Amino acid sequence: MTDQTTRPLYDVARIRADFPILATQVRGKPLVYLDNAASSQKPRQVLDAERAVYETGYANVHRGVHYLSEKATQGYEAARETVRAWINAASTNEIVFTRGTTESINLVAHCWGRANLRAGDEILITHLEHHSNIVPWQMIAETTGARLVVAPVDDRGEVDQDAFDRLISSRRVKVMAVAHVSNALGTILPVRRMIEAAHKVGAIAVIDGAQALPHLAVDVQALDADFYAMSSHKAYGPTGFGVLYGKLPLLKAMPPWQGGGDMIETVTFEKTTYAEPPAKFEAGTPHIVGAIGFAAALDYIAGIGVGAIAAHEHDLTAYAHERLCEINRLKIIGEARDKAGVVSFTIDGIHPHDIGTILDQQGVAVRTGHHCTQPLMVRFGVPATARASFGMYNTRDEVDALVDGLRKVVKFMG
Ligand code: PLP
Repeated sequence: MTDQTTRPLYDVARIRADFPILATQVRGKPLVYLDNAASSQKPRQVLDAERAVYETGYANVHRGVHYLSEKATQGYEAARETVRAWINAASTNEIVFTRGTTESINLVAHCWGRANLRAGDEILITHLEHHSNIVPWQMIAETTGARLVVAPVDDRGEVDQDAFDRLISSRRVKVMAVAHVSNALGTILPVRRMIEAAHKVGAIAVIDGAQALPHLAVDVQALDADFYAMSSHKAYGPTGFGVLYGKLPLLKAMPPWQGGGDMIETVTFEKTTYAEPPAKFEAGTPHIVGAIGFAAALDYIAGIGVGAIAAHEHDLTAYAHERLCEINRLKIIGEARDKAGVVSFTIDGIHPHDIGTILDQQGVAVRTGHHCTQPLMVRFGVPATARASFGMYNTRDEVDALVDGLRKVVKFMG
């Protein structure tokens, strides 16, 4: 059994051996993959689990009495139990399978928002949200007459908690929707206290957990989150699969979103009645293999230990902060006191896209751009940043490769 908390047992070489893609050469150089916040790579265990379904246990779920359909259904529903246990939800009925965080948030905004928001109501978000946690709320605000209110972020990249407290204390706030971890800055938000504040004014709390899942232990009951959105592909699982956790009474009271097979109880031309959650929100053939692959990813993470991974990534982030300061004119954007494995930066006089392109020539993959957080870029007065983001398989040597690469960027671009 792997130790879940202590670092000395963390065997990064063994972990790396599980990820076939990490042996890739890019432009003649060993791949240094530092784009995990965009999407993480997949271990052999996940690839094997997906392959095994297609080779030995594949059919459509929920609809057949034949052996393969029963086997696929069993795997699909077992994945729901794995996710439930992972986030400590009270029931598998609270685990809705979606295509990812974006779809999960849209589902809440559309279904809960349409039923509950009225003109004059407020939707409170923060300045560091991903577009996925801004645009769906703007869309529902437009159709209901509700108003989007934005809690400011300070120079460190932390949400200004005094301003947040003032804004949330308005009796008009009906939804608070915030990220657990910022994808652009790495800031870990104090969501427990923010959820408590939301509940005090009778608002529901929607948490965008896209960046939290691979880095932090998530307990939705301890957080008391009303909704929690996740993406599999950022947590070493398959792309195109995600989860919406929702408290059962809220899910039961919400109208469905998409109509179709599986989400109904009975259909006549006169009237359709709907299935209970989670089926009510899972119209059509789902991403069966995605669910099973995601469960395999969670099992894989469990085998290493979230605590051990978090400690490793924390070490890499601190080391990157220290080493990046050696680069002339480099400025780190976002220095929150509580931070997950993301380092965003600019180099004065060099466009982030040039940084990314020159690093790529050296096999180093970072993301450059606005990271789907355009308002946050405006807040920090930059058009874009370069972002290195760490996963369980990254090493200090790879941070060194990043720094060596940046020296070449500065030399080349002047
Ligand atoms: N929220 C945050 C904080 C993210 O980082 C992302 C993806 O980068 C999303 C939401 C959207 O996730 P997805 O594209 O998997 O739906």
